[in-house]
Amino acid sequence: MIIKPLGLAACTLLVIVMGLRPAAAQDADPYQPLRESMVTWQLKARGISDSRVLAAMERVPRHRFVPERLASLAYGDHPLPIGSEQTISQPYIVALMTEWAQIKPGDKVLEVGTGSGYQAAVLAELTDRVWTIDIRPELAAKAAGTLKTLGYSQVQVKSGDGYLGWPEAAPFDAILVTAAASRMPPALPQQLREGGRLIIPLGPEGRVQTLTRFRKVQGKMQEEKNVPVSFVPLVEPPGTRD
Ligand code: SAH
Repeated sequence: MIIKPLGLAACTLLVIVMGLRPAAAQDADPYQPLRESMVTWQLKARGISDSRVLAAMERVPRHRFVPERLASLAYGDHPLPIGSEQTISQPYIVALMTEWAQIKPGDKVLEVGTGSGYQAAVLAELTDRVWTIDIRPELAAKAAGTLKTLGYSQVQVKSGDGYLGWPEAAPFDAILVTAAASRMPPALPQQLREGGRLIIPLGPEGRVQTLTRFRKVQGKMQEEKNVPVSFVPLVEPPGTRD
């Protein structure tokens, strides 16, 4: 006899708790609706179709990777300054590079140009083996803090010259370079596994570059596709640029 009312009470409590959950989740992240429209209008509308990439872009709180005063602009269709004269890429470019990288769970991925850590977080949604390197120590340190705070503690962050890759962690299944190089840094293809993808903007500083995907096939780099882009320059060894 006593069991029935107790059971009812438990059910009622459960319904209340479940009923409250979506509202509570929205309170926790007021940017969720902006993120959803970013995915619909900037990514899907332009042809990003990999459901894992779209889900990653919908999950990662981009506003936490930009300076606080710019948080309300984080989901706009443009890059934003992140300090040290660097920028976080436009959401579409992050999604495109990620889709081109064809990352499966367990793949090893290197990002050259950590910046804010945003691209690394998107990659970390797809595999738990991500390495990212930035030549500017202040950016690497800040990104490492942001990634840790948000629970992406599996991402390995270091400050150093990514022109040389990360030989100790190689070979990688995918390498993404998020700064424009005048030509392919020779170490990067060497650190790519057979069948691996390398995505890099190539071209002159301050002008339009060509975001290119290469695949390593029988030890040779095969160009697969490209699109015009504009990135901040990769710091390269003296004499590399013409
Ligand atoms: N992917 C970043 C944005 C990158 S901006 C993000 O998601 O926010 C380009 C970054 O490349 C800058 O942070 C810059 O410091 C870094 N960079 C430039 N030359 C580099 C080099 N040789 N090695 C490593 N990082 C480099």
